[in-house]
Amino acid sequence: MKNNLSEEIQKAAEILSQAKSAVIFSGAGMSAESGIATFRDPGGLWDRFDPAEVGTAPGIMSLLSEGGDTIREIIREVVEAFTLARPNAGHLALAELERMGVARSVITQNIDNLHREAGSTRVFEVHGNLYRFRCLNCESKFFVDRSDFLERLGDIARGSGPLSLEGIMERVPRCSCGGVSRPDVVMFGESVQELGEAIFEAHQSDVMLILGTSGVVYPAAMVPQEARKAGAVLIEINPTEVVFASKNDVYIREKAAVALPLIVEEVKKRKKKK
Ligand code: NAD
Repeated sequence: MKNNLSEEIQKAAEILSQAKSAVIFSGAGMSAESGIATFRDPGGLWDRFDPAEVGTAPGIMSLLSEGGDTIREIIREVVEAFTLARPNAGHLALAELERMGVARSVITQNIDNLHREAGSTRVFEVHGNLYRFRCLNCESKFFVDRSDFLERLGDIARGSGPLSLEGIMERVPRCSCGGVSRPDVVMFGESVQELGEAIFEAHQSDVMLILGTSGVVYPAAMVPQEARKAGAVLIEINPTEVVFASKNDVYIREKAAVALPLIVEEVKKRKKKK
């Protein structure tokens, strides 16, 4: 696929400046410049840990029965990255696209809350949100204070001696009904969230911006395919691979945090001229 960077950025800006209903679909690469590593890139979590072990409830139980050192290591890494993570220039550019009336919604596979923190308001989180909890008793969902929760997690990581499920449960926030709660994130093998809404958004889109995803996690990866079926033009930004864009679409081989502000500046110029 032809990939002259500035030409592709101009092309993306032209398409977006005429869009009536652009929808964003983001994955882990979107937050790479916020300091949160992607899962599948070298050095990422799944490069070092087996998802079948650490990403499922039975896997977690088995690691706890071995003392929980691996769980502590993963929690320590998550806390370090998420404590420092802030929306990057790409997240901010997308929020600007919404304020300009170009972007209709964001569908994200990320659990890091960074699209909301950047100012995007219509966000569908198909894999949940790390700062939202679900009560196992009454099923209600509630957001927790980000730094308080990360400190609690940090306490778990710093602890010594065998780690138990009870020890973890004691430190996670309780529901107002008194019930035990868990982070409202989707683990391997669990049902995704808001998929119906995400597919509805895809069907409404005339442009889909696909950012930082390897497209291997289903059913989330159906979303761009549904947008294409509905006739949307795809604009994909990824520094290493093209997953969804075909020859009639736009592929930008660049980091999302670099390309998006450039595109949004160009969209603004075109809107001013009109
Ligand atoms: P992935 O790790 O499978 O793939 C990441 C993709 O991003 C790759 O194609 C890579 O080439 C690209 N990429 C890397 N750096 C980039 C950058 N700076 N700009 C743009 N693209 C970049 O990610 P996935 O497809 O989202 O699937 C992994 C699953 O893991 C997701 O479903 C998500 O739920 C979860 N996850 C979430 C976070 C987070 O919340 N930030 C982080 C890691 C993984």
